[in-house]
Amino acid sequence: MSGIDNLPPLREVIATHDLRAKKQLGQNFLLDLNLTAKIARQAGDLSGSDILEIGPGPGGLTRGLLAEGARRVLAIEKDARALPALAQIADAYPGRLQVIHGDALEIDPLAHLSPPIRIAANLPYNVGTELLIRWLTPPAWPPFWESLTLMFQREVAERITAQPGSKAYGRLAVLAQWRCEARVVMTLPPEAFVPAPKVHSAVVQITALPAPRFEADAATLSEVVAAAFNQRRKMLRSALKSLHPRIETLLADAGIPATARAEEIDVARFCALARALRAARS
Ligand code: SAM
Repeated sequence: MSGIDNLPPLREVIATHDLRAKKQLGQNFLLDLNLTAKIARQAGDLSGSDILEIGPGPGGLTRGLLAEGARRVLAIEKDARALPALAQIADAYPGRLQVIHGDALEIDPLAHLSPPIRIAANLPYNVGTELLIRWLTPPAWPPFWESLTLMFQREVAERITAQPGSKAYGRLAVLAQWRCEARVVMTLPPEAFVPAPKVHSAVVQITALPAPRFEADAATLSEVVAAAFNQRRKMLRSALKSLHPRIETLLADAGIPATARAEEIDVARFCALARALRAARS
């Protein structure tokens, strides 16, 4: 018994199923179920929501989500070794856990989920940023999910919530803060994981706003911020010159000095630039 459910403790699960962590799968497991239940509670009211979990592994967070009352959990896991442990959890919570074996970058989970949908995950570091960018940049808004409760390396969490003028401010901050509220809700030391990573981790709570803060086309804004922060030390007129032959005029239209650098520009002005660029191209 583990405290939050009648299933075996996670150390025992890992030993029984020989789930030695593999670095190439970004595996750092959370074994403290009181901690995973606490992370699950950050996701808000779970009882009325379907939860998409990426990378359940031995199921620590999955069990936290179910014990905290999630209506249903759809978990996508790439490592087949974890499937028997996850099947045991599904048996303990009849009808509430569905596991898909596969790569989260290739699976469309929508067919298996009913709104309202929340996403919660201790993300594998090797695909975490790519998944986040996909969730943040659909063409239409609001997205299929209401909130994202995601564990990242602390440095990535800081990049998501950073403000203009700071070193951490970049593409992730602009794309997250354009249409969402994003804040760090927990920080965890390396020892919270097995094996312990080199760095601290943090849970970020990202809530989708009903409408974007500023009008912009998602693809154009993504293109602008990618180019601007790819060469973040350069002046924008030079970092962005491949986007349009009249980039200096477009920068002026957006109220951005051509000599400014990307990290000085707030979300409102990046959106103004994306609108000017889109209009100039059409
Ligand atoms: N959720 C578990 C926990 O908190 O203890 C495990 C988290 S571990 C950081 C990341 C998990 O993602 C591992 O179980 C790993 O096998 C899985 N994973 C890695 N790449 C994946 C991918 N592309 N699609 C789905 N799962 C993946």
